[in-house]
Amino acid sequence: MPIHAVHWPARARLRDAFALQATCNCATVFAVRNLVLSVSLCLACSGPPSGTEPAESRLPPNIVLILADDLGYADVGFHDLQDFETPNLDSLAAAGIRFTNAYVTHPYCSPSRAGLLTGRYQHRFGHIHNPKFRAGEGLPLEETLLPEVLAPGGYVSGVVGKWHLGDGPAFHPLQRGFDEFYGLLGGGHDYFKSNGEDAREYLIPLDAHGGKIPVEGYLTDQLSEAALDFVRRHSGRPFFLYLSYNAPHGPLQAPPEALARVDSIADPRRRTYAAMVTALDDGVGAVLSLVEELGLTESTLVFFLSDNGGPTPANASNNSPLRATKGTVYEGGVRVPFVVSWPGRLPAGSRYEPLVSALDIFSTAVAAAGIELPGNLDGVDLMPYLTGAQSEAPHDQLYWYSDEGGQYATRTGESKLVRILNREPELYAIDNDISESHDVSDASKSLTDELVRAIDAWHAPHPGPAWPGTRGERPVHPNTAKALGADQDEIDAWVAKQVYDESRR
Ligand code: CA
Repeated sequence: MPIHAVHWPARARLRDAFALQATCNCATVFAVRNLVLSVSLCLACSGPPSGTEPAESRLPPNIVLILADDLGYADVGFHDLQDFETPNLDSLAAAGIRFTNAYVTHPYCSPSRAGLLTGRYQHRFGHIHNPKFRAGEGLPLEETLLPEVLAPGGYVSGVVGKWHLGDGPAFHPLQRGFDEFYGLLGGGHDYFKSNGEDAREYLIPLDAHGGKIPVEGYLTDQLSEAALDFVRRHSGRPFFLYLSYNAPHGPLQAPPEALARVDSIADPRRRTYAAMVTALDDGVGAVLSLVEELGLTESTLVFFLSDNGGPTPANASNNSPLRATKGTVYEGGVRVPFVVSWPGRLPAGSRYEPLVSALDIFSTAVAAAGIELPGNLDGVDLMPYLTGAQSEAPHDQLYWYSDEGGQYATRTGESKLVRILNREPELYAIDNDISESHDVSDASKSLTDELVRAIDAWHAPHPGPAWPGTRGERPVHPNTAKALGADQDEIDAWVAKQVYDESRR
């Protein structure tokens, strides 16, 4: 199918937005319309006509990395979404490649993002916990982030959205290679309001262009507007946009008009979640429409993924058919929807089955920019694999470790081993058992032992945590304990075992 037949076109977006306005005179529609008007205004003043510039002359490509927060595995139309729609994410998938065995490096927020932006297992530098707010914790300063590597290639880099890699001055995005930041420094935010600068994490003002601004309207729409502004201002040079939505992470909040668009969903929590994802999908559509109208589609490399699996009890997400949730190293914690699109360079509407990792985004982006890859990366440049130049798999094996419950896992193409502290190792024939429902460790003892040794060898050189977690006050998140099926005795045993070794700090 031709890309233009599936990529969300700006004309259709204008038409549909105004059709919606005609039938529903409400604030969300106005928000959507405003996004569209932003696209139209920028076209009027700055954009080159579509198709006037051959893709080759635009290299190196723009890079747009779109991250969802706590999105359920099933909750995109290109997976198994049943009760609402994500037309823009589906268009992105139809214009590019959908990964079917794709993983992040950690089952919750900050460590996953540390791996994403360094291209290295965050365990290598002790980033295995969320930084506590206003505690001086953050992604270790010795590490190099993606925008720092892209800068010599002439890139301007911006973060729009959630940071969660340290809220102190030294860890600020503008100190880590980004030229611009518009968003929230912590792990989440109220979607409708902010208070003073001394407010708690979810109510602090947004950080924008070096100043502080309040949340106005609905935060997801506000971030989408900021992303459009970034693309508009930098359309004449290579840009790296890290569009890091905090949706659909809690709190569960959506405006009435967005809720009305998914009012066929009876459960109120699921309906709110669906409205939050719908707003995110609107924003993705607006950004892609702007890219298209600026004639940049074939010179823009787009990634979309979630930072971890859905915390199904917390935000009414759906991880089907995966086992468990965010917080666990079962598939429901670390296997995510993941799409890459680069029209003209990558095939449209295709699937890629071998293992890929969020670690690969760093390497792929840097290589696409024509910049030499640093020698210390754990990810690989996916382009040769996706174009067929390389026929083998990018990864033979991936690994996970979370100190909550002392969870380890490793996966090869065929098998996955899960090891949880004080439990026997579990082995799954993951290529035939995506739900991790049949433990075959008894029947495959030698493979089980081999994978346990592989985990030990991977983990042995890692330092301890760069800062203490919250263990002691809350050794394991209640939802994680529940997802792991732990009772209080087991939780107590995890604590007694000193799940991570403080002496290695
Ligand atoms: Ca998350």
